[in-house]
Amino acid sequence: MKDRGQVNAHTHCYSGLVPLGMPAPQPQPECFIEILERVWWRLDRALDHESLAAAARYYMGEALLAGTTGLIDHHESPSCIEGSLDVLADAAEELGMCAVLTYGASERNGGREEAQRGLAECRRFISQNRRPLVRGVVGVHAPFTVSDDTLREAGELARELQTVTHMHLAEDQTDGADARAKGYAGPLERALSLGALPRGSILAHGVHLTAQEVRACATNGVWVVQNPRSNRANGVGAPEHLDLTELAALGTDGFPSQMESELAEFSDGAGALRLAAGERLMAERFDGDVVELAGDFKGGVVRQLVVDGRPIVQDGVLMSANRESVEQEARAQAARLWIRMDNQGAGGEA
Ligand SMILES: [Zn+2]
Repeated sequence: MKDRGQVNAHTHCYSGLVPLGMPAPQPQPECFIEILERVWWRLDRALDHESLAAAARYYMGEALLAGTTGLIDHHESPSCIEGSLDVLADAAEELGMCAVLTYGASERNGGREEAQRGLAECRRFISQNRRPLVRGVVGVHAPFTVSDDTLREAGELARELQTVTHMHLAEDQTDGADARAKGYAGPLERALSLGALPRGSILAHGVHLTAQEVRACATNGVWVVQNPRSNRANGVGAPEHLDLTELAALGTDGFPSQMESELAEFSDGAGALRLAAGERLMAERFDGDVVELAGDFKGGVVRQLVVDGRPIVQDGVLMSANRESVEQEARAQAARLWIRMDNQGAGGEA
């Protein structure tokens, strides 16, 4: 491990409480869309600012102890959109985590109005945020949950604010089928032709991108982030062509930020290349504003981490927050969250 630690290039801190006993979905999901509907879209609707803060602090604290010093988060909390990025940003700043944050605009609960609230949260946050360790970008959940208008507006907003977009794309066949039904060759062509991917934009997954499409990502300066554990867990397949681009990084997609576990999914050296690329991606987003990071990560244990002169980890102990109280609060909020998820009923209404 290098002395700047590792970058997790696509994750969801909002799922930080999941390891603390989230009940299994009933009935058991049988495909990707059922996994989204019965697990993740119920979880994100149940979030409030208290549970989100607890999830983010717990996730980031454990991530730092595992050697992750930078993460690129993709956030959704449809019941509390406004201000949600500040909750995440405050946790990052407190814990000492470099973070690139976004709200993933979607029309899947409340149509265009919901998407516009998501984009407005991105605009507000990117315009107001002054935290040295945190940057914001414009987010879309995934092409298949938004209209052309939302994709177009996301691209326009990113250009106006001189930043990029971050969205899921071609994770499952659904995105491709949706794009073709709307008259496009695929979700990448759709997003590119609507101007939704300014250079430097970040696509999570790209599992179903063809070789030609991966080359188009490279030509357009668009990053793709592979998430091997998540792809396997969701049964969506594995991307086959990412070796064709140097703009391919590695993420955990909401799994605990243990990058070694993602590396273990590779049988060749591609994982190490992706992990190293994540640092370049992070540097792009900080645009030369280098955060002073000094660490000693020997043997997979974080002996020491100093961020901007502040001790964050010392001899494997979290210094920026009290790990025990962070975990205690996380467990208390997790218990509340499972009840709130359950209260949505089988129909999934919030
Ligand atoms: Zn994701």
